[in-house]
Amino acid sequence: MPSIKVKGILPGFVIVVAVFAGYAYAQTPAITTSSSAVSMSTSTPFTRVPILIYHSVRPYYPGITKLVKEYTVPPDIFDDQLKYLRDNGYTPITLDDLTAHFNSNKLLPDRPVIITFDDGWENQYRYAFPIMKKYGYTGIFYIYSNPIDRKVFMKWDEVKTMVDANMVIGDHTKSHPELSKIKDDATLRKEIEDSKKIIEAKIGKPVNDFAYPFGDFNSHTIEIVKQAGYQSARTVFKGTHQTNDIVFTLHGIIVTGDFNRFVSLINE
Ligand SMILES: [Zn+2]
Repeated sequence: MPSIKVKGILPGFVIVVAVFAGYAYAQTPAITTSSSAVSMSTSTPFTRVPILIYHSVRPYYPGITKLVKEYTVPPDIFDDQLKYLRDNGYTPITLDDLTAHFNSNKLLPDRPVIITFDDGWENQYRYAFPIMKKYGYTGIFYIYSNPIDRKVFMKWDEVKTMVDANMVIGDHTKSHPELSKIKDDATLRKEIEDSKKIIEAKIGKPVNDFAYPFGDFNSHTIEIVKQAGYQSARTVFKGTHQTNDIVFTLHGIIVTGDFNRFVSLINE
């Protein structure tokens, strides 16, 4: 295979505080990013695999703030987006498939796509999961272990139901911190290693894929994620080109309820 030059653009992102359902749950990177582009070149040929990033899938409601709305996809639009994937020859794959492609040249379908969901919101179980099943699609649900079983988050039995229906559970730490700000290693390891063990014990399966809360990480974080035994880690850097060089900083597309934006980004 001839080696080709790839330019990856890492957009700068802004951390903002979101208040959902009456309490602060997360700080979320703004979707419209001003890109202070960092140039990166590699000799590895890239594989074009859009990684879709969903947060809430639920109907809009009166009084929804602009920010919450940006991170919410109504179920009918979610259905339209999956229908678009089906009608346009996209095939959802898992991160097992992508890493097997990198490591042992596993063949991927013509237009692979990876569907991911962040944070373990119960609305994903209620609204997105049935639509995923309707299309026969698999996806990766990155959950963080602390709030599971609490109000507005999935319950462990719901997580297990999804695993039994061929969904993949990924890890998103214990408490959703900004990992680069954690100074002591014991805490950092707890967030990255303990959550993996907790989820594995609950679902009875290995958890191999990690997503950085807020897309926040540094080189030390990556090292701990590798040592914990994950095979991949996803950021929120915008992009559809993946390589083995960025398997611990995979790029993605944060999906909104704007269908035209979805079509344009997935085909970028
Ligand atoms: Zn998150």
